[in-house]
Amino acid sequence: MFDTVLIANRGEIALRILRACRVLGLKTVAVHSEADATLRHVRMADQALCIGPAAARESYLDTARLLLAARLTGAQAVHPGYGFLSENAQFAQAVADAGLVFIGPPAEAIRRMGDKISAKRAMAAAGVPCVPGSEGALPQDAQAVAAMARDVRYPLIIKATAGGGGRGMRVVKSESELANAVATTREEAGRAFGCADVYMERFLEHPRHVEIQVLADSHGNAVWLGERDCSMQRRHQKLVEESPAPGIARDLVAKVGELCTRACREIGYVGAGTFEFLYEDGEFFFIEMNTRVQVEHPVTELATGIDIVVEQLRIAQGERLSFRQEDVQPHGHAIECRINAEHPWRFTPSPGKVVKWMPPGGPGVRVESHLYDGYVVPPNYDSLVAKVLVHGRDRPEALARMRTALRELVVEGIDTTTPLHEALMDEPEFVRGGADIHHLERWLAAGTHGSTKQ
Ligand code: ADP
Repeated sequence: MFDTVLIANRGEIALRILRACRVLGLKTVAVHSEADATLRHVRMADQALCIGPAAARESYLDTARLLLAARLTGAQAVHPGYGFLSENAQFAQAVADAGLVFIGPPAEAIRRMGDKISAKRAMAAAGVPCVPGSEGALPQDAQAVAAMARDVRYPLIIKATAGGGGRGMRVVKSESELANAVATTREEAGRAFGCADVYMERFLEHPRHVEIQVLADSHGNAVWLGERDCSMQRRHQKLVEESPAPGIARDLVAKVGELCTRACREIGYVGAGTFEFLYEDGEFFFIEMNTRVQVEHPVTELATGIDIVVEQLRIAQGERLSFRQEDVQPHGHAIECRINAEHPWRFTPSPGKVVKWMPPGGPGVRVESHLYDGYVVPPNYDSLVAKVLVHGRDRPEALARMRTALRELVVEGIDTTTPLHEALMDEPEFVRGGADIHHLERWLAAGTHGSTKQ
């Protein structure tokens, strides 16, 4: 159906996609900005094309340039990776209209699930529990909003319906802050996402972030591949992910997983996707769906042995899922640490030349990274430079392997968040398992993590 894939992304995920293409014998086209000519996947691809300047707006986010690159190179399919245009329904539609295969769900499914309000409606209809909140977008009338807020109960969170990447959210503790919070979030959302609609949800005070990975083919089959606990967050951004989620009853996770596959069938979902939930006091509440491959997908790959990116490509070729739900048997414990080019405690960006790169290895260790000796991390993009993953028979073994791997990792020339991860892997509450989404920030604020030594 297609034999050449254009990779519309950069960094570690572009390399990951290239490898999956190779496993299936597919040819690859790398497109890159002027700042990215030296990326590893650019050197490895069958064809490479510079599509514009460093600014993502004029390269990775420019639909016309991407489609032109596909035409010039003869690529018949486009893999969007994560970020950039991966959840842009207009882009998915433009790819399809150009007669190419978009490696992801149909544009209509992206549109429906990308809007957080319509996603919640679709999920509620499929019987999935959602965080209590406003039925739809908030009205302009301040009185009406205040009345809704009293129903939902404080504290609450105002969220942009088109929001993403942890942006466009504001917590409101009492009525006196409400009007202002709604106005600023609307203003921000309009600017950042081109849509000023916001809605409200009860702000859960000590939830965990637990998400379900799904795969659905174009023949109506859907499976779920276990869950990931992504509660270690800073500013709503994930730093560490693991599977399974410590201490949550297996039958409860299975019930939620089954509901997710049912929702996939009901909304005509195709491809890889993630249903994100908050878990509090033994209950799951849906918050949003990501209609693309996620940064943390290798956690699930380690736990299940299934190559999610290869499956994405197969599904896009119209193939049926090659396994059934009962064939998915997660085992052991997997953990991922996201290594960012940032100061480990101040989080200031640290682009520049990587003088030395020595990734860890050994049993149960996997590293996803585009770094190499002499590579220069440009200042223009997301600061993720490596993902260190481990798999062990159980959580203690996985933790021990992660400590060993982090100690072995060498990245010289730039600051990375490795010291933060090393400290976290020894932090008692994280080690116990099951800490909530506020734990990491609380721990950082307490200053007991040894950052004074840095
Ligand atoms: P984004 O699309 O920007 O990732 P999400 O809706 O997935 O936004 O929320 C990101 C994070 O924000 C969650 O993982 C959680 O930490 C926090 N969050 C979102 N909604 C709520 C809520 N109702 N109560 C408490 N925390 C929330």
